[in-house]
Amino acid sequence: MTPFANPVIREILQDYKTISTFRQSSSLLEWDLEVNMPEAASSARGFTMGQLALMRQKATLALEPLVSKAGKEKDLNDAEKGIVRVLERDIDYYRKVPPSLVDELQKFGAEAAVPWREARKKSDFQMFKPYLSKIVELKKQEAEKLGYHGHPYNALLDLYEEGLTVADLDRIFELLIPSLKRILAKVQSDHVFPSSHPLESVGYDNQSMSVVNAGLLTLLGMPEKRFRMDVSTHPFTSSISGNDVRITTRYEGQNFKDTMFSVIHECGHALYELQQDPELEYTPIHGGVSAGFHESQSRFWENVVGRSRPFVSLVYPSLQEHLGFLSGYDQKQVYSYFNTVRPSLIRVDADELTYNFHIALRCEIEKKLLSGELSVSDVPSLWNDMMDDYLGQRPPNDSEGVLQDIHWSGGAWAIFPSYTLGNVITGLIWELMRTEGLLGRELNEERLEKFKNWLREKIHRHGSIYPPKELLRRVFAKGYDPKGLVTYLEEKYIEGN
Ligand code: MG
Repeated sequence: MTPFANPVIREILQDYKTISTFRQSSSLLEWDLEVNMPEAASSARGFTMGQLALMRQKATLALEPLVSKAGKEKDLNDAEKGIVRVLERDIDYYRKVPPSLVDELQKFGAEAAVPWREARKKSDFQMFKPYLSKIVELKKQEAEKLGYHGHPYNALLDLYEEGLTVADLDRIFELLIPSLKRILAKVQSDHVFPSSHPLESVGYDNQSMSVVNAGLLTLLGMPEKRFRMDVSTHPFTSSISGNDVRITTRYEGQNFKDTMFSVIHECGHALYELQQDPELEYTPIHGGVSAGFHESQSRFWENVVGRSRPFVSLVYPSLQEHLGFLSGYDQKQVYSYFNTVRPSLIRVDADELTYNFHIALRCEIEKKLLSGELSVSDVPSLWNDMMDDYLGQRPPNDSEGVLQDIHWSGGAWAIFPSYTLGNVITGLIWELMRTEGLLGRELNEERLEKFKNWLREKIHRHGSIYPPKELLRRVFAKGYDPKGLVTYLEEKYIEGN
């Protein structure tokens, strides 16, 4: 039986099929752009994707009378309420932010990529400064148009993580940062988790590694007929439809854990999409509810499962079989290799323990730039001071500091918090699974299947029916509480469990 009985909702869903078609087409074009597209096609592709975005906007706004009618209906069920909520948010964004500003943001984002690259190459923040100033200006305008309570950053946070506020973020980091510092100090004095490992510089043969990766897909039970994996510059997941989810990885020829964990990470994202309730297909509530929830799924599989001792035992025979250079390394050594802890200046090189420091400092800077408490000129010095405070290292130059990420140049603002939220939610999942006795010292395919079923029941199948804070409350009876994450890290890095 369809969960959508209300006649107004049914009318909305009839019209929404057009929007679903635009969504699916855009996703497929985007995937193709990253995986297959010949370079010279980029401007035509940009044009087509721009047109699809406009058509989607027009079709969404055309739903406004029906959505407002549905909003007044009594006795809507949860899924129907979810549809109204998600569409109201989309309509609200299109209504409040004029197309001219969206266009300017997009164009400037594309334009600033070149000077950012140049500035990073020369390690010269001054070259990038005018572009960053302009991005901040545009983001302030976007926040003003959207409207907010309290802090302008709230308006932008809400776009990726519905309902998330500066107060939530401040609370998370106030608890997390001192705990992380304490755990890191202990790790550094104990030397149980090494800061580097000889396997990091060992080369591998791509062919053998792709056999190992294919084995991982089988082990995780990825459904062959509904899913595929390709190679791209940066690993990502793309959901085309409920039965067509795609991930990518890359082979750098050395340090095999990178490609291995990127596969496990993206499988986590893919499972979230593959385990949606099929009834939600072609509706606005099909798909993961927020960037933070999505990241929690990838981090759970990558870190809690993939970097655990039981997982090492499980995959060790296959690693030994296909990667000849591993002979002479026992399981304990592979576990150490998977879990090096190395405070680094570079976010993308960070491990599960130090990653959140990188996010905390970016959130602080984004927040203060938006409120005007921080001027663009002062960004490098705040960056360097915070790195020093968190990790005891000062970037020797701007390219290893403030210029390292592409995000700001492309106009991506308020996306960084989702990485830490992902870790926080992963901590909650770990805590609850442990309470329920689901995590054991041994891992086999049956137990992996149990993890998948658990995640489907509690999180995946709901799609975007409930906003993230309500889903947290329903599943964990908590908000974005970082205590689970802290306990997980303490048990692993201090108690050695
Ligand atoms: Mg991810």
